[in-house]
Amino acid sequence: MKTTTDYLALLKNLGLKATPKRLALLAVLEEEHRYLSPEEVWRKIRRRFKSLGLPTVYRNMEELERHGVISKVLHSNRQLYYYFCPKAGHHHHFVCMECRMVEDLPVCAVREMEKDIKRRIKGTVTSHVLQVNGFCGGCAGKQ
Ligand SMILES: [Zn+2]
Ligand SMILES: [Zn+2]
Ligand SMILES: [Zn+2]
Repeated sequence: MKTTTDYLALLKNLGLKATPKRLALLAVLEEEHRYLSPEEVWRKIRRRFKSLGLPTVYRNMEELERHGVISKVLHSNRQLYYYFCPKAGHHHHFVCMECRMVEDLPVCAVREMEKDIKRRIKGTVTSHVLQVNGFCGGCAGKQ
C-alpha cells in the first residue's frame, strides 16, 4: 500500500494508540484520496481483520475525527463521510458532491471575519467550521 504519511508518529503525537486497525483505516483513506463512508472503509479492510465489525470502524473514525486526524464531510445526501488530509495546518476543503474529490483551499477567509465577530459579540471565538460544496470541473458538465 502506497502512503506518504507516518501514521505511527501522527497518532503517537496525539497520544493515540497506533492499532493495526487504525493504521489500515488511515491507509485506505489516504490511498483513495477522496472521502469515504465508514461502511466503504469497513468493506476494504474487513478481510484483513477477523471479526471486525462495522461499529468498530465507526467508533475508530469518530475518535480519529475528534482528535483532528481525519475530517468529517457533510454531504447533502445526509451520509456521513470522512477524509484524510496529509496537509498540516489550518485550512479548508472544497468537496465535489459527485466524484468525492477534495481540494485544499489555501486561504481562510473566516479569519478576518472572526475579528469582526469578536468585536460584535464582545467575547471570544474559538474555532470555525467551513466546507465548500460543489461539483468539480469533471462533474460540473454532467449536471
Ligand atoms: Zn467531481
Ligand atoms: Zn486538506
Ligand atoms: Zn478557517
